[in-house]
Amino acid sequence: MTPIHSDREEWDRIKLRLRVELGEDAFTSWFTRVEFESRDGSCVFLSVPTRFLKNWLHSRYRDRLLVLFREAFGPIDQIEFAVRSAMRPVVAPRDVVTPLPTAPTRAAALQTPVVRVVAASTRHDDREEDVLAGSPLDPRYGFDGFVEGRSNSLAFAAARRVADARPGESVGFNPLYIHAAVGLGKTHLLQAVAHAAKAQGRRVLYLTAEHFMYRFVAALMAQSAIAFKEALRGIDLLLIDDMQFLQGRQVQQEFCHTLNSLIDGARQVVVAADRPPADLETLDERVRSRLAGGLLVEIAAPDVDLRRRIVGHRVEVARRASPSLEISAAVIDYVAENVVSSGRDLDGAVNRLVAHNQLTGQDISVEMAELALRDLLRTREPRKVKIEDIQRVVSKHFNVSKADLLSARRTRTVVRPRQIAMYLAKALTPRSLPEIGRRFGNRDHTTVLHAVRKIEEMAGADRGFADEIEMLKRLLDG
Ligand code: ADP
Ligand code: MG
Repeated sequence: MTPIHSDREEWDRIKLRLRVELGEDAFTSWFTRVEFESRDGSCVFLSVPTRFLKNWLHSRYRDRLLVLFREAFGPIDQIEFAVRSAMRPVVAPRDVVTPLPTAPTRAAALQTPVVRVVAASTRHDDREEDVLAGSPLDPRYGFDGFVEGRSNSLAFAAARRVADARPGESVGFNPLYIHAAVGLGKTHLLQAVAHAAKAQGRRVLYLTAEHFMYRFVAALMAQSAIAFKEALRGIDLLLIDDMQFLQGRQVQQEFCHTLNSLIDGARQVVVAADRPPADLETLDERVRSRLAGGLLVEIAAPDVDLRRRIVGHRVEVARRASPSLEISAAVIDYVAENVVSSGRDLDGAVNRLVAHNQLTGQDISVEMAELALRDLLRTREPRKVKIEDIQRVVSKHFNVSKADLLSARRTRTVVRPRQIAMYLAKALTPRSLPEIGRRFGNRDHTTVLHAVRKIEEMAGADRGFADEIEMLKRLLDG
C-alpha cells in the first residue's frame, strides 16, 4: 500500500522540519498557530490568527517556507498569508460610517459576503516604532462605549478602579487578571483603562503578549535588550492583552522578571486572557502563580438584557453617522435574543443590518434581520465533540474497555490509549485540563498535561504515530 500524502500531511512534515531547524521556542512562538488553508497552482495559502504574526512570518520566514514548499509541491513562487480574525464581512465596523459604495462595488459586496485580508506580498505594515510604543489603541474603546451588566460588572468596576487611581496609589490588587471567552470585551476594557490613565498623564503601556514577544526578540537581536528592560520597568501601568499567546521559554522568563519588578515596585499590571491562569498550560509555573496572586475576574457571557443594551448602544452610534437610520425595538430584541454568543457578534449583526439597509434600500424589519443574519447564526454552530465520543472512539480503536480507560490501571496497553484520549479531549474540545482530569476517573490536571505533552512529543518523533492521531481526530471532528 503506497501512502498518498495530502497537502496537509506535507504541511505537517514541513512543520516538523521547521521545529527541528528553529528549536522548540522559536517554533512554538511562530508556527504552532499557522494553518495550511489551500494550494492553488504556484501559490500556497496559509492563515494566522493575527496581523502581527502575518507580518512577522512574511518578513522573517517567507524565503525558508518557499524553499520547503518547493521541495514538497514543486514550483511554488508565492505564499499568501490570511488573517483568520480578519475573515469578516466585507462591511467591517468602520465602513458603516463611510459613504455608500458606488454601484459596481455594491454588487460585488453583496456577492462576496466574506473576504480574506491577504498580504500584498511587498507591503509591510509593521511600523518600526521605538522600543516602548505600545500596540495600537482603538479610539472607540473607551469607558463610555462599554456597556455594563451583570456578567461584566466586577471586571468593569476593577478596571475603573485601576484607571482612576492616582500615580503611585495602590488599588489593593495587583495584577488585575481578566479572563473571558472571545468577544466579551477584554480588549475593550483594557484599552479603556489605557485611554483613561493616559489622559491623566500616567506612563501607560498596552501590549498584546505577542507584541511583547516581538519587542523582546527584536531587542535581543538589536542587542538593546537592556534598554528594553529598563524602559519597561519605568512605566506606571502595564496592560498585557491575550496572555494565552505568550510563548517561548526565554520570553516568559523575561516577562516574569518584568512582572515581578513592576509589582514589587508597586506599579499596576493588568492582564487579559481567554482562560484563568491555571489553564495557561504553556506558561511557566512561576508566571502562572504570580498572575493568580492578584484579583482574578471573569467576564461571563452577556445575558439578554445586556445584549439588548449593547445592541441599542451600537444602533445609537450608527445613527449618529446616518441619522435617517431606523431600527425598531422589535429588531433590537430579535438580535439580542438570537445572537447569543459575544459582543463581537452583536457588533457584526448590527453592522450587517446597517449594510443591508444601505446597499439594498430595504427597511430594517425583523424579517429582513432574519434573512440578513441567517448565516451569522449558522456559522456559529461548530461541530461539538464530546468527551464521551472521544472515549468511545479511542476504546474501540485500541480495543480497551471504557472502564479500563477511566480506571487507575497502569499497564501499557491502557496507559497509552488513555493518554491519547486525554490529548484528543484537549485538542478537540474547549474543556480545561482540570475538567478533563475529572472526566477521566478524577485525575489531576497535571496528569492530563503530562499526557498532552507526551502525545505531542511522540507525534513529533514518529510519523506513523502522528498519522494515527490525525486519523482519530478526523474521525471525531468530521
Ligand atoms: P475580547 O477582547 O474579549 O475578545 P473585545 O473587547 O474585542 O473582546 O470585544 C469585541 C467587540 O464587542 C468589541 O467591538 C467591543 O466593543 C464589543 N463589546 C464587548 N463587550 C461589550 C460591552 N460590555 N459593551 C460594549 N461593547 C462591548
Ligand atoms: Mg481581545
